[in-house]
Amino acid sequence: MCATRVSAIYEAAKSCAYRIANPQDRVMRIVDFHSHFFARPFFNALASQSPRTGSTEEKLAALVEQTGMELPSPNIAEHTARWLLELDRSHVDHMVTFASAPEEIGAVTQATQLAKGRMTAIAVCNPLVAGAAAKVDELLTGSGYRGVLLFPAMHHYSPADPACTPLWEVLERHRAIAYVHCGMLVVKIRDLLGLPRRYDLRGANPLHLVPAADAHPGVTFCIPHFGAGLFRETLMAGAQCENIVTDTSSSNAWIRTQPSQPSLQEVFARALDVFSPARIMFGTDSTTFPAGWRADRLLEQRTILEGLGVAADDQQRIFAGNADAALAGSRATA
Ligand SMILES: [Zn+2]
Repeated sequence: MCATRVSAIYEAAKSCAYRIANPQDRVMRIVDFHSHFFARPFFNALASQSPRTGSTEEKLAALVEQTGMELPSPNIAEHTARWLLELDRSHVDHMVTFASAPEEIGAVTQATQLAKGRMTAIAVCNPLVAGAAAKVDELLTGSGYRGVLLFPAMHHYSPADPACTPLWEVLERHRAIAYVHCGMLVVKIRDLLGLPRRYDLRGANPLHLVPAADAHPGVTFCIPHFGAGLFRETLMAGAQCENIVTDTSSSNAWIRTQPSQPSLQEVFARALDVFSPARIMFGTDSTTFPAGWRADRLLEQRTILEGLGVAADDQQRIFAGNADAALAGSRATA
C-alpha cells in the first residue's frame, strides 16, 4: 500500500474516532508502555521453526483456523496504519512496541519511522549471542529503539551473570530501558505452533536484577506484569533499587498462582505502596488482531485506580508521565 493510501485511511479513521473510557479520560495522556507489534516476519519466523508438517504458509493457515487470529498484512505500512487506527480509536497518544523476534526488528524499525513519533521500538535480545551488545548499541544509536526485551527463562541465563555486563554497559550509555520478563512465561503463539517449551524459570527471578540495577543506575529495569507470579520478589527488588519499575500489562492471570489469591486491586495497592506512583507504568500487552489495542485493560486499570482513590496527578504519571520520562532517558521522582 502506498504512503498516501495509508495516510488517507489513517485520516478517515481519525474523523470517526470514539472514546471507550469515561469522559475524564479526555484530558488524560495515555502511553502504552508494553505492546507487541507482531508483524508478519514474527509469524513467519515462528512458523518456520515449528515442527508441524507443511509449509510456513500452511502452518500459519492452520493457526488462523484454530484461533480466529488474523495474520498481519505482509505490508509493514499497512500493519502500522492498522495499529495507528487502534491508537486513535482509543485516544492513546503513544505506544511502546516490541520486536518480539530478531527477524522482526527491521519491520519494527520501519513502523516507528512511519508512525512519526507515535511509536517507540524495543528489540528482543539474547545477551548470550555473540555481538548482541554491539547490535543493541547500533539500534539505540540510529534506528528509533530505546531499549531491549529480555527473556532469561527462554534463553537460559540469569541477569546477574557476568555475560550480561556488556549489554548493561551499552544500555547505561544510552540511558535505555531493559524489560526483563520474570516469573511464568507463556507464549501462546509458540505453544499453538508446537514449539517445544524449554523454559527455565530459575534465572527469571526479579531478585537476580538487583546486582545489575545497582551497578547501572542509568538503566531503567522494567519487570512486566508485576513479576508474573513472583510478586513478592518484584516488590522486594523494587524496594531495593530505585531504577527498577514494574508494568501493569497483560490480563495478569498469574494472580491465580498466588496462595492468597489477591484481587488485581489488591495487587495495585501493594505495588503503589512499595513502588509509589512514580515507578508503575501502564501497559496492555496488546498483541494480535482482531483484539487489537486492549482498551478493556485501560478501562479495568482506570477503574481500579479510581477505586483506590489514586489522585489524578498520580494516575497521569502511571498512564503516561513515568513512561515519557523513561523514554526520554530520565526518571520520574517519587
Ligand atoms: Zn508482553
